[in-house]
Amino acid sequence: MNNGQTKPGYNLQIGTENQFILDFGLFQTPSDPLTMIPFFNSFFDRYSKHPQTGVADAGYGSEENYRFMEEAGIDAYVKYNRFHREQRMHYVPDSFSAQALYYNTDGDYYVCPMGQHMERIGTTRTKTKSGYISKSSRYKARRCEGCPLRGSYFKAKGDRIIEVNHPLAEYRRKARERLTSEEGIEHRGRRCIEPEAVFGQMKYDMGYKRFRHFGLDKVKMDFAFFAIAFNLKKMCSKIAKAAKNGGNTTDSGVFYV
Ligand code: SF4
Repeated sequence: MNNGQTKPGYNLQIGTENQFILDFGLFQTPSDPLTMIPFFNSFFDRYSKHPQTGVADAGYGSEENYRFMEEAGIDAYVKYNRFHREQRMHYVPDSFSAQALYYNTDGDYYVCPMGQHMERIGTTRTKTKSGYISKSSRYKARRCEGCPLRGSYFKAKGDRIIEVNHPLAEYRRKARERLTSEEGIEHRGRRCIEPEAVFGQMKYDMGYKRFRHFGLDKVKMDFAFFAIAFNLKKMCSKIAKAAKNGGNTTDSGVFYV
């Protein structure tokens, strides 16, 4: 990058359980959300089934990823970008935001803070880089002119328009319900000692910070050998530990990304 640092050439994704590398994927995109579906498909190709549960950080919480997991029957413990803010003890949602407005499902309209109905005026379509089309509904207030709140929180010209992605809001609601359950709290706690800990051991304990080859095929081979060695080393230390404590390790069916 002309400053002595090298630019990452590959985005490595790993999925772990009990700190064993169950699968890995190498992508040539810097964007994590776009890697999730091909990564789960790679897991399916390897094991002929999807994991029962997928746990991932907020970077993966997109509409297409939630939808894919729901359709594949994977329990999604995947955060979204506002999740941590919402969990703060003194969090108060912005009372003027679209999420805070009353929504009438039967009539498909919102009610603004001054009690006006905001009627549906259309749909916005956006296409992600993977080609997924996301639809957001648009609602418009009838008349904002002369409203005492006009200018205090809403300064644009004309009447206020809001855009709401209903499917995404519903996926987030389900994710929030899961993530705040007893099981969800446990998964959230474990995630930082699953793939993150494995990356830490790889990079800092074992010094594996750079691939030794160029080209996707060769880099895949490079990391596959490393992953086999890593898992063997982990297995030996688990067996030794289990023999010492008389305990054993079990397969929980959880895939931490
Ligand atoms: S500015 Fe418009 S949308 Fe906002 S409270 Fe007033 S009338 Fe309602």
